[in-house]
Amino acid sequence: MKSVLVTGGAGYIGSHACKALKSAGYLPVTYDNLVTGWRDAVRFGPFEQGELEDRARLDAVFAAHQPVAVLHFAALSQVGEAMAEPGRYWRNNVAGSLTLIEAAVAAGCLDFVFSSTCATYGEHDNVVLDEDTSQLPLNAYGASKRAIEDMLRDFEAAHGLRHVIFRYFNVAGADPEGEVGEHHRPETHLVPLMLDAIDGKRDALTVFGTDYDTPDGTCIRDYVHVCDLVDAHLLGLRWLEEGKGSRVFNLGTGTGFSVMEVIAQSRAVTNREVPYQIGPRRGGDCTKLVSGSGRAEAELGWRPKRSDLATMIADAWRWHQTGHYEQ
Ligand code: UDP
Repeated sequence: MKSVLVTGGAGYIGSHACKALKSAGYLPVTYDNLVTGWRDAVRFGPFEQGELEDRARLDAVFAAHQPVAVLHFAALSQVGEAMAEPGRYWRNNVAGSLTLIEAAVAAGCLDFVFSSTCATYGEHDNVVLDEDTSQLPLNAYGASKRAIEDMLRDFEAAHGLRHVIFRYFNVAGADPEGEVGEHHRPETHLVPLMLDAIDGKRDALTVFGTDYDTPDGTCIRDYVHVCDLVDAHLLGLRWLEEGKGSRVFNLGTGTGFSVMEVIAQSRAVTNREVPYQIGPRRGGDCTKLVSGSGRAEAELGWRPKRSDLATMIADAWRWHQTGHYEQ
């Protein structure tokens, strides 16, 4: 069985990726420091606890498991936190990824799939966001991811590191079988916060700004189901295994929803009121982030199956009611 090193495998997207890898016949080896991840979410292969910046630990893990590829999910990923503490983002995301990439090259593990973000694009009025759009991030989260993309290109030129970069739009939903799901501490994402507000686990949701230049004044995002997102990673891995070379792909559906539209859909799916209040804008938020690219569909053959808003919220709601991690 081929091993794949999954950094951040104890986190939201990484744990879903481990499940998909196992189903596809790979052995997912989770490498995670458990700062934001959950030990309970590591269910599909071995667990190795460690820091991205710990080169000796990474060398030992590469030697022990001989992975054929790296799927690099581990990162700090909150816009608000990135605005307040940019140093953590540059250190953890950029310096950590550098150490990981150097360890992968030293181990001869040269197929690398990287989780980047649409936050690298920044604010573009009326511009279709495809993979060639200029990257002008508004916050240290997006800036750190853009820097890692550049790093991968340099390591390809010098050391032959083949990479697929996925720029995620907004990931939502959960494993429909309920084995893994979304659980952040603290939670900052729209869908889980809204579900918490619906069943009284926290106070009303605050809508961050109603004065954006959008039809209802709230920000527009392109939501993609976590299971569809990880399916793309399997296709990306195969792409590299087939020697097709380094490539960047947006992962979004091309359809945007405003915060108010997400609230309305949640009310419809759960048949409950969504308690919310209007608040000021959150620093670092772009008005609209919607993928304008069909490259992943055209070149990878990616076909999102669960990324309609109702299914994503229904899957998230099921997990919200039945699943949780304790450690
Ligand atoms: N949002 C909001 N209230 C919240 C959390 C998020 O209004 O409590 C909005 C946020 O401004 C953005 C969208 O919901 O427009 C999605 O935010 P999230 O943090 O889920 O993802 P991001 O777009 O930052 O990756």
